Amino acid sequence: MTNYHDEVEIEDLEYDAEDDTYYYPCPCGDSFQITKAELLAGETDATCPSCSLVIKIIYDHDSFVAENGEGAVEKSEVTAKKIAL
Ligand SMILES: [Zn+2]
Repeated sequence: MTNYHDEVEIEDLEYDAEDDTYYYPCPCGDSFQITKAELLAGETDATCPSCSLVIKIIYDHDSFVAENGEGAVEKSEVTAKKIAL
C-alpha cells in the first residue's frame, strides 16, 4: 500500500510540453512529477525525486487517453500535414 502525501486533481498540475511531464510543488521545495506517457499507461503515482513523498493523481483515464492518446496525436498530425500542404 502506498501512503500518499496528498491526492491532487490533474487540473492542478502544471504541464511542461517540452518534456511531456506534469509537475506539482512538493513541500520539500522540489516538485512531484509524472509523465504524460505514465498517465496514459494508467499510472497515478507522482513521485518527488528529492524526497520519499508520493501523491496520487486524480484523473479520468478514458478521457485523458481520448485527449492525449495515440488517436489525439494522429489527429493533430493530420492537421499539421494539411497545413503543410
Ligand atoms: Zn519532495
